[in-house]
Amino acid sequence: MTQGTKTSQWIGRQFINGDWREAAATLENRNPANFAEVLGLFPRGTAADAAAAVAAARKAFPAWRRTSRIKRGELFDRLAALIRRDVDKLAATLARESGKIVDEARAEVVEGLHMVQYVCGTARQPIGDCVASEIAGKDLYVRRKPRGVVAVITPWNFPFAVPLWMLGPSLLEGNTVVFKPSDETPEIGTQLVELMIEAGFPAGTVNLVHGLGEEVGDALARHDDVDVVCFTGSYEVGSHIRKLAAASDHKTCACEMGSKSAVIVCEDARLDLAVDAALLSAFKTTGQRCVSAGRAIVHRSLLAKFEAELCERAKSLVFADPFTKGAFAGPLINQSSVDKVLRYNALAREEMAKVLLDSGRLDDDSRKHGYFVGPFIYRQEHAPGLRTIREEVFGPHLAVIPFDDDEQAVRIYNDTRYGLSMAVVTEDYRRWRFYRDECDYGMGYVNLPCIGAEVHLPFGGVKRSGNGQPSAAALIDSVTHKTSFTVNHELGITMAQGMTAGAQKQ
Ligand code: NAD
Repeated sequence: MTQGTKTSQWIGRQFINGDWREAAATLENRNPANFAEVLGLFPRGTAADAAAAVAAARKAFPAWRRTSRIKRGELFDRLAALIRRDVDKLAATLARESGKIVDEARAEVVEGLHMVQYVCGTARQPIGDCVASEIAGKDLYVRRKPRGVVAVITPWNFPFAVPLWMLGPSLLEGNTVVFKPSDETPEIGTQLVELMIEAGFPAGTVNLVHGLGEEVGDALARHDDVDVVCFTGSYEVGSHIRKLAAASDHKTCACEMGSKSAVIVCEDARLDLAVDAALLSAFKTTGQRCVSAGRAIVHRSLLAKFEAELCERAKSLVFADPFTKGAFAGPLINQSSVDKVLRYNALAREEMAKVLLDSGRLDDDSRKHGYFVGPFIYRQEHAPGLRTIREEVFGPHLAVIPFDDDEQAVRIYNDTRYGLSMAVVTEDYRRWRFYRDECDYGMGYVNLPCIGAEVHLPFGGVKRSGNGQPSAAALIDSVTHKTSFTVNHELGITMAQGMTAGAQKQ
């Protein structure tokens, strides 16, 4: 531990086969709003830990799969009650280790709760379909079955809701899981697993490993006895996981990755609404949402007014310790994020952008020990090859890109290798329909920010943002496989498609 740090508060452990286990080596968990403060020490899990957790999940799978779906759902009902009981504690933990302001951290806990309620509610929904056969005496069924052992690998920026988007449907459908939270936010992941144990999930159904992605995460993603990898995080890691799954002969994966989302401000937009939408989309969570807007694509006729109001309002946003009253957002997560954001801010200048606001590193007395960076806003004409308007920055970095007609706005929007979230601000119903149909995205919004999902919708992107396996409500398709099942009620055999059953006695 470095000099001047406080005593650790959290001592993390891994949870494997129903037992809490210490690890040989540990990692420090630091407060991003005050990096001198060590919040806890957490296991630096190994490939052997990953293997033990996968073995425990495999052992627990047969009994869990045979448990009534309704009974599995009832455990989520208990979990919902426990989350409601602990909502303030969970929000405080999340705010401390992720830097998300406490009001937003609470909203994330509520989002996790909503997922748990949704999962519980769907327990009594059909698990398949009954369809007609061309032979009157046959019944045909389509039934979903669990796939087996699911590895859940999650990012630091939604460390409570995103794990539940994946753990919830996986477990309800009868899979067993190994959960690896980000090493930036291990405590909130641990508290979630503690609540799941308290709710009564049997030993081995939920296992928790901690540590570095390239060590324990990689070992999990490679493990031959993992059937599905549910991953949310950066494109680089997601792409690696997709390749591992492709090389396996049975493993599948659901990957939700980065973005270069945008708010499109049309010529008929309400200016006040457009500015609100842009500010929330670009700077909430300090620009560290997967759906954060890195671009405001603005009709040239509104440009001057939009830029002036946007910058004025952005200057007044408070970036502070997550527990500060009135704070709009907190710090970045770590030093490498600070370096990356400042590098992209500098790159915008190199790419000849017109810088409209550069708040830089916020290092006054109250913030100099945290990873605080304020809004950076610049105007950039769209042109081929510019990196800042195409690559994910994951910080408070916003390009204002002018356009002259709707066709051009769509071309600008689609000119990135990502496709996660899009908002269009317009009063014209024909216009938003055009954007709805022509833009590449997974989540679309009209007269709203491009952030703000709800759990009963699919959450997933296209291009580099996702592999076509959305999360939240839609995850069920990734963690089950559809089987067909045909039952004959006749006394003899009649084949479909008019084929004669030649083997039968005449
Ligand atoms: P990250 O990719 O660095 O890490 C995500 C998880 O993967 C962590 O648990 C990490 O330990 C693990 N990991 C890292 N290397 C690994 C490896 N080689 N094998 C297996 N696991 C490995 O992402 P992050 O910094 O935690 O999160 C930010 C990124 O996540 C951004 O790009 C953001 O856009 C994206 N994100 C996407 C969504 C979405 O739904 N599309 C949601 C939230 C965040």
